[in-house]
Amino acid sequence: MIDVLNIAILKANRLRPTTVRLAVLSVISGYEEGTHFSIEKICDDLSSSGVRKSVGSVYRTLKEFEDTGIVIRHQFDSVGTVYESNTQDHDHTVCVGCGKIKEFYKTEFDALRKEVVSESKGRLIKHTQTLYVVCEDCL
Ligand SMILES: [Zn+2]
Ligand SMILES: [Zn+2]
Repeated sequence: MIDVLNIAILKANRLRPTTVRLAVLSVISGYEEGTHFSIEKICDDLSSSGVRKSVGSVYRTLKEFEDTGIVIRHQFDSVGTVYESNTQDHDHTVCVGCGKIKEFYKTEFDALRKEVVSESKGRLIKHTQTLYVVCEDCL
């Protein structure tokens, strides 16, 4: 299946629309917004849609997507490495019991970050703020 939109996304990021890139991107664009996914999940979803790609090639593809900003990579304690589509600015809470990841956005945090960056006289490139919690299901 040729996905015009996904080809356009790849081209806009100066990536040639190879079969592996298109396959991975089409799996990712099928996820609900706010999904945090591992490489294993991508590989499982590829194989259940009949696409066989090695973990190595999926890994390289995700690295390219990360470098171009199509996805963001996170490394969370008790979860490991997960990716998400680069959508709206947000931070995360991660449950140390079950690994559940939730997103939040607080304008106050955002304002404080801007203040700190401006005091440093630098420019913000990226930020991560992760609050490790015990979620209500694990309490
Ligand atoms: Zn939990
Ligand atoms: Zn997120």
